Amino acid sequence: MAPLRISFLIRSVYDLVPSNANLVRWGKKDDPTCPLCQGRQTTEHVLSSCKVALSQGRYTWRHNRVLQELASVMSTAKEEIHPSSTSSTVFTAEEEYKCGKARLLTMLEESDDPVVKTAQPSLKIGRQWKVTEAVDEAKECLKMKEVIGQTQTDRRGLGSTTAKRWSKTEGKEKRDMIIDEIRNKEDSTRVQKAVQQPQQGQWTNWDTAIQRSLTWNDI
Ligand SMILES: [Zn+2]
Repeated sequence: MAPLRISFLIRSVYDLVPSNANLVRWGKKDDPTCPLCQGRQTTEHVLSSCKVALSQGRYTWRHNRVLQELASVMSTAKEEIHPSSTSSTVFTAEEEYKCGKARLLTMLEESDDPVVKTAQPSLKIGRQWKVTEAVDEAKECLKMKEVIGQTQTDRRGLGSTTAKRWSKTEGKEKRDMIIDEIRNKEDSTRVQKAVQQPQQGQWTNWDTAIQRSLTWNDI
């Protein structure tokens, strides 16, 4: 903590800061009034009793700043401890990205041009995810579902399935089925991760959080 702040903290506790009331008491000034409200400007008045400061939201601002700093410190500490734990928004963006790439690949595969047909978007995102594997896996799942019968697993409500048959579907509809399948898989993976995180204590473990020492400067 900066020496100046320590000094202020100690002197304000013992009412030794140069408030106008103190300055008058010390013979340095004649007028003890608060420039904001014209009341008597004591230390206590400045820190918590000035009605003008209150109406201007100065105390609220100070109060919220403390909370903002605490939130920021905790968020930083969390990121330091678990750099990989990302928010659900990031997962959703990742999911959209993956679906976009899968859509591109399936479109290329259907092209009549042999060059385009074999062109694969060289995409390896994250650490393991590969678009070709994801598409192949989705196709396998769809074939399997056709054999064992459609099960309701996606984000649409129960009973809304239009029992699409994989082998009899063509073109865009077929591509959409693949993308839906990948999306479902990503969704369930995300839910799985979200459930695992609190179990592993990643969001709630205060024992590790206090390893980062909280100084007065942080507050
Ligand atoms: Zn005042």
